[in-house]
Amino acid sequence: MSTLSARCLCGGVRLTLPDTFLYMGNCHCSECRKFTGSDYSSVGGIEADKVSVTAGQTHIRYYEKSAETVLAFCGQCGSSLFSHKINKGVFNIRLGILDTAPQSAPNFHIHTASKAPWHTPNEALKQFEHGPD
Ligand SMILES: [Zn+2]
Ligand SMILES: [Zn+2]
Repeated sequence: MSTLSARCLCGGVRLTLPDTFLYMGNCHCSECRKFTGSDYSSVGGIEADKVSVTAGQTHIRYYEKSAETVLAFCGQCGSSLFSHKINKGVFNIRLGILDTAPQSAPNFHIHTASKAPWHTPNEALKQFEHGPD
């Protein structure tokens, strides 16, 4: 099993994780769009305890979006890092911070009902108007 490495834009925060995502998908909800500043957010879900912060733990800032979801970002450069799904014990890693390519790729879209009006999701992938999250 290979190890993936990830870092934020400034390089202050570095993570490693095994290439064993539970799922990979694109979220089009308005909150992910706001948080990432992008048309949608590509994420891979993985058990939180499999992710190691190898540098910059003190740079990581947390925004409590809801009782179930905490968003993590770099306090120096603002890069979105992951969302922590507290109840599930899962991190949804923002795939844009990966420096190594995972063996899989996102294969579904969620929350397409609230997608950016100018964006057309890749129609080859399964689409869900709302969850599963
Ligand atoms: Zn940074
Ligand atoms: Zn979302």
